[in-house]
Amino acid sequence: MISRLEQLCLDKGLKMTEQRRVIARVLSDSADHPDVEQVYRRATEVDPRISIATVYRTVRLFEEANILARHDFGDGRSRYEEMPSDHHDHLIDLQSGRVIEFRNEQIEKLQEFIAGELGYELVGHRLELYAVPRRGKNRSSEKSSEE
Ligand SMILES: [Zn+2]
Repeated sequence: MISRLEQLCLDKGLKMTEQRRVIARVLSDSADHPDVEQVYRRATEVDPRISIATVYRTVRLFEEANILARHDFGDGRSRYEEMPSDHHDHLIDLQSGRVIEFRNEQIEKLQEFIAGELGYELVGHRLELYAVPRRGKNRSSEKSSEE
């Protein structure tokens, strides 16, 4: 089985070494927007010979090839995800660090409207919401002691 990210690499004509393949697969399998340290830990579970320097280089290579999206969720660490085929935004739970993906058509339209009002055509945006769970809500993200 070839991972989606690996396929994107091949489509872009990137030379795929064994270690790059492992790192591509780890990134493809990660739905949680990992940072380089987390990618490194997961990659070395598959191949202990992979160095952190290789992970840094490979992630940068993928990012430059536009197949990996980099995010900064306010803690100074770069987080990565496979370049999404459909646009989405992120809500960051400041208590648990969980990253929730969402898309809201009203926000999308509003941003286009604002750019238009300012005389621009919108070509992209980044939106991150920083939030804490409301009391009694979002129980799934709490370490529930009630159950
Ligand atoms: Zn995302």
